[in-house]
Amino acid sequence: MFDNLSDKLDKAFHILKGHGKITEVNVAETLKEVRRALLDADVNFKIAKDFTTKVKEKAIGQDVLTTLQPGQLLVKLVKDELTELMGGDVVGINLSGNPTVILMSGLQGSGKTTFSGKLANYLLTKKNKKPLLVACDIYRPAAIQQLYVVGDSIGVEVYSEPENKNPVEIAENAIKHAKANGFNVVIVDTAGRLAVDEEMMNEIERVHKAIQPHETLFVVDAMTGQDAVNTAKTFNERLNFDGVILTKLDGDTRGGAAISIKSVVNKPIKFVGTGEKMDAIDVFYPIRMAERILG
Ligand code: GDP
Repeated sequence: MFDNLSDKLDKAFHILKGHGKITEVNVAETLKEVRRALLDADVNFKIAKDFTTKVKEKAIGQDVLTTLQPGQLLVKLVKDELTELMGGDVVGINLSGNPTVILMSGLQGSGKTTFSGKLANYLLTKKNKKPLLVACDIYRPAAIQQLYVVGDSIGVEVYSEPENKNPVEIAENAIKHAKANGFNVVIVDTAGRLAVDEEMMNEIERVHKAIQPHETLFVVDAMTGQDAVNTAKTFNERLNFDGVILTKLDGDTRGGAAISIKSVVNKPIKFVGTGEKMDAIDVFYPIRMAERILG
């Protein structure tokens, strides 16, 4: 995960290790390399610039050059700042409703259906919940079928109304069904498009308004880098979502989305997807991610 970024950061810190006495110039050179590594990882220019400015200020504030191991301290400052940038503390999902209603949003192919299954499986096996999956894609029968395959594989019931072309009604009926049948979490998988379009946004906004979810999650493919961040911005403006799900972190991702998304939309990353299987889901811990990136 993010191997390229990790390698580049490691090389950046080598600059400091090669010197007997470390000077301000060495520190500046290292931070320049750090910035370059972030840009190569597809982190937005302003975020990368602010990042190194903040680390530099802290390094000056803590008199890094006069400490015994300036190199190590600088690595720690970078790690702290990366953790902060990715959200600081872990933010879980709100499961206080009865039933708790969770709405999935995002583009087609981002991994919404797969993640809906993973989340249902996680809640069933780790949180002792009884989830219901809801197929709200009225355009692609294959999408409904896919949710049934997912539901079957984890032993979770799927609610759908294949003849109904009104996603608001389907979602509302599903919640009634959940209440009547003892389901305490309702996960609503919605239709996505290949790109953001007005019709899709209007539709999900209508569903959102009608069912007033406890959690609205925005699912995004980590491999799409800065595009992921831009799409997140658009969805957030319309839905004011509660959290981000970064999928496909097992692929050849550069890291830009994971690092930038929180500071752009000011919403936490809550889970990550790390594979196609139903157990390939992890709670997102900013500090652990920063530690992994810095090796
Ligand atoms: P949706 O259109 O948003 O519902 O996306 P899907 O759930 O159908 O996922 C699109 C493709 O991405 C499928 O082939 C999934 O198996 C795959 N996928 C989803 N999540 C992950 C993940 O975390 N890692 C990998 N490698 N593939 C994933």
